[in-house]
Parts: sequence; structure tokens; C-alpha cells
Amino acid sequence: MPARAFLISALLCGMAAAQVEVSLLPWPAGAEAALSLTFDDAYPSHTAVAMPLLEAFGFRGTFYLIVDRLFQRGKYEDLPSAPLADWQEGFRRGHEMGSHTWTHVGLDTISALQMQEELRAAHQVLEGLFPGAPVTSLAYPFSRADTAVMQEAARYYLTGRLGPPPAGEPPYNDPATDQLIGLKAFFLCTGETPQSWNQAADQTLRGGGWLVEALHPIDELGYCQVREEDLEAHLDYLAGLGGRIWVAPVGQVAARLVEWRTLRLHQTPLAGGQVLLALDEPADEAWQVVFTVAGSWRVLDPEGHPLPLERAGDSLRFVWPSGQAAVTLEPPLITAVRALGWGQLKSFFLVPAPDFQVFSGSPGR
Ligand SMILES: [Zn+2]
Repeated sequence: MPARAFLISALLCGMAAAQVEVSLLPWPAGAEAALSLTFDDAYPSHTAVAMPLLEAFGFRGTFYLIVDRLFQRGKYEDLPSAPLADWQEGFRRGHEMGSHTWTHVGLDTISALQMQEELRAAHQVLEGLFPGAPVTSLAYPFSRADTAVMQEAARYYLTGRLGPPPAGEPPYNDPATDQLIGLKAFFLCTGETPQSWNQAADQTLRGGGWLVEALHPIDELGYCQVREEDLEAHLDYLAGLGGRIWVAPVGQVAARLVEWRTLRLHQTPLAGGQVLLALDEPADEAWQVVFTVAGSWRVLDPEGHPLPLERAGDSLRFVWPSGQAAVTLEPPLITAVRALGWGQLKSFFLVPAPDFQVFSGSPGR
């Protein structure tokens, strides 16, 4: 009897001491990282080549438009864009239209008043041209912005895209800590290979980050032009990752991150080693939850139904049930008991097994 009591209390102590490390991932189910395909300067090849190519892979991009270029004014008098109707068609097919300001001028090189107008007026005009979705994404011309520019930009836009980070830093953004109004970009340029772009995607996958790729013209003269076949090879690679990297416009990824950054997940230990996980309010997005424990844990929704779990090493992953505020993590012993049935467990403890007799026998008997 003392032996049995010891055994049971040891199991309970073991369970009570279980430390469960839980984290909520920012990306949709199955994804480990995010990637946005962005196109600058409103080139005609964006609507003619890039949009149909992206769509062939099921992707949608973000197109940073210069208002003057759309209307062939100012320095764009001799540099036409695609017809406005083509941009509006692309927008209806799910591409995001972002702002690359009114005239494409370095915002930190002009007066404060001009800078404010570049940001405000472009925002207003673009929302008028593409009604139905707010214009939340901005790319700073020439990747230039100082604190005053970024503060002003944040009045109208959720994100502001800068240039690449300093050498040696990862090319992607950290979903938890990086400032959305100062996003890092990864430029795809002339003379590079699709393999080097694919490697950046791989690195982003390993880091669980958000890669914001910046492109310019496709098979068309201009800064950093790339070939359609190279872009196609890169998109083919991304599609081949089978959803492990979430490819979505900047505005969609940013909106999800804003929600994710405000989420708080609380852990409460329950009797028998169970752990209650609760969010401040029911989730309206499907979030992925990862927890690290040994053994066959289960996760139960509020009705007690087990949720599908994916295991990788000591990590278990599940998708938070949409519309629910809490789930319960259940340790292996309780899981085993439920599988066995209480009746069977009772007889397991009450009928002395050979092991018990050896364990409780005195030496020398
Ligand atoms: Zn530009």
C-alpha cells in the first residue's frame, strides 16, 4: 500500500511540476513565415506581366503607385503608366494598391509642409480611385525617411516600406518587434538569380519572419528590372513550399500582425496537471498554437472535444478554434485514463501486479 501511494503521488507531483511552454504563431494554419511581393513605381509591366503571372500561382501583390505617373504628369510626362482601368481591374482581382506618394520625391529632402502633402494627398486620391479598401501601405520613395516623415506617414498608413537592412542583418522583418511604419525590404534586381531570392525565402522560413520583396519593372527598361522567367521561377519555388510560407499583400499581413500583437494568452494550471489556455477575447482569426511538452498531450475545446494536433519532436501544434476564448491542455496520464476508462484504471491499481510485489517485498525474505 505505501508503495502504491508513493507511485501515485509521484505521478501527481510530476504532473503538477510540468512546465508548458506555449506560444501563439502570427501566421495562418500551416504557415511558418510570411512573404509579400511588392512592385514600385507603377510600371506598365506590372498590370501586363506581373499581375497575371502572380495570379497563375494564386498569389496577389502590393503595387505602390505614384499619383503623377498614373496621370502622366510632372517628371512622368514621358513615362506612361498602365491605363487606370487596368489598375482598377487588378485591384478588383485582389491585388493591393499602395501609395508611393504623389510625385516620388525624397520625403526627408523637402519642406515639412510639402512632405505632409505628399503623404496626405496621395492617400486621399488613391482611396478615391480604388474604393472599398483603405490604402494602408506606403513605400517611401528612394527608401528615404526620417523620424518626422515616419511620424507623419503613420497618420495615414499602417505600414511604410524602407530599403534593405544593414549587411549582416536578416533580410526579413520580425513579426513581434519590428516597426510596421519602417519595414525592411528585400530588393530583387538585375543580374541576380532566382536561387538567391529563393534562399532569402528559406532564411525567412527558418527565422519565422516576414520578407517584403521589392520589385520594379519586369522585362521593361528601368531601375532593377528583372526577367519574367526569373520571377516565374521564384514564384514556382514559393508555390512549391506548399503554404509553409504565407504569400499575401502587405496590407493583409500587417493587419494580421496588428491583431496578433495585441493578443494575450493566459495559462492557468488546473487540477491533475491540466492547463487552461485563455485569450482576452474569443479569436476571430484562426491562430496556430505551439506548445512544448513530452508525451501524448491532448487539447480539448470548451465542449471537451479533442482538437487535431501535429507533432514535431517535443512540439505539438494546433489551430485555435475560431470564435472560442479558451481551450484545455491535458497531460498524458489523464489522457491515458480517459482512453482506458476509470473502471479499468481502478482495477489496475487494486489488483496487485507482479511489479508491486517485488517493489514492496523486504530484502532477505
Ligand atoms: Zn520608387
